[in-house]
Amino acid sequence: MEVLLGSPRGFCAGVVRAIDVVDSCLRRYGPPVYVKHQIVHNPHVVKDLERRGAITVEMVEEVPEGSLVVFSAHGSPPDDFVKAKARNLQVIDAVCPLVTRVHNEAKKYHREGRKVVLVGHKGHQEVRGTMGQVEMTLIDDGSETVLPDWNADEKVAVLTQTTLSVGDTANAIQSIKDKFPGAVVRNDICYATTNRQDAVTQMAGKVDLVLVIGADNSSNCNRLREVAESLGVPAYLINGPEEIDRSWMVGMERVGITSGASTPEVLVESVIQSLKPDKVTMVAGVEEDVTFSLPKELR
Ligand code: SF4
Repeated sequence: MEVLLGSPRGFCAGVVRAIDVVDSCLRRYGPPVYVKHQIVHNPHVVKDLERRGAITVEMVEEVPEGSLVVFSAHGSPPDDFVKAKARNLQVIDAVCPLVTRVHNEAKKYHREGRKVVLVGHKGHQEVRGTMGQVEMTLIDDGSETVLPDWNADEKVAVLTQTTLSVGDTANAIQSIKDKFPGAVVRNDICYATTNRQDAVTQMAGKVDLVLVIGADNSSNCNRLREVAESLGVPAYLINGPEEIDRSWMVGMERVGITSGASTPEVLVESVIQSLKPDKVTMVAGVEEDVTFSLPKELR
């Protein structure tokens, strides 16, 4: 069996930065370091930091008064900062700068008097953070596009979650533009999401099966699996080798492997090792050179 390895795959600049933030806090201040929401959507990463003294909580109210807390890469609503201030917490925000850009766009268009629409996944942490910035309407990209009942000449601004499917989002945006021709449309899907989906698209025509390594609550991992499936290739999202069902592999000569933006490379390596392929071939893709600096408190 041959393994075709997608590229780029794995950690993006926002994930590297968020993990570095918790790592720096643990080194500089010592444990415990509270983290609101999983720092990135990967249990391996979360457990590794927890072993070193990070404590993951879901609500600001769970952090003891006066403690240090890191807010996750997905972004947080302003309400969480207000609650943190009331509890006298020291907040270090590990939000990805590309998510902050979406927050700033939302505020700008709201100030300009536009109705803000966000295309995204209901309930996802990034969507919660963005929805909290200003009043806005969510269009769930996971279901059939249901548009708000506004006049066609309404001034509308459309933003998107950063980790959506490039294809599905284009369809949702087209429906919005058809109904509101004057809509300003920002495509906020980030470079890492786009590049990893392009890599799967390239690979899909060459393999019998795609394994996406990553967590089932990771938006961009799920989109990678869907992209492969939409191209007619069976695809599975797995956390690691222990989740491989050997019956998937029967008769498979070429297996594509890739991973989402929050997946450590060590998990990809362990999956490859467990498959014991005769050959591993890298599918060349775009080179990424994006980096983000740490928050000013840690520089
Ligand atoms: S997937 Fe994109 S938006 Fe999310 S952390 Fe990575 S670079 Fe930032």
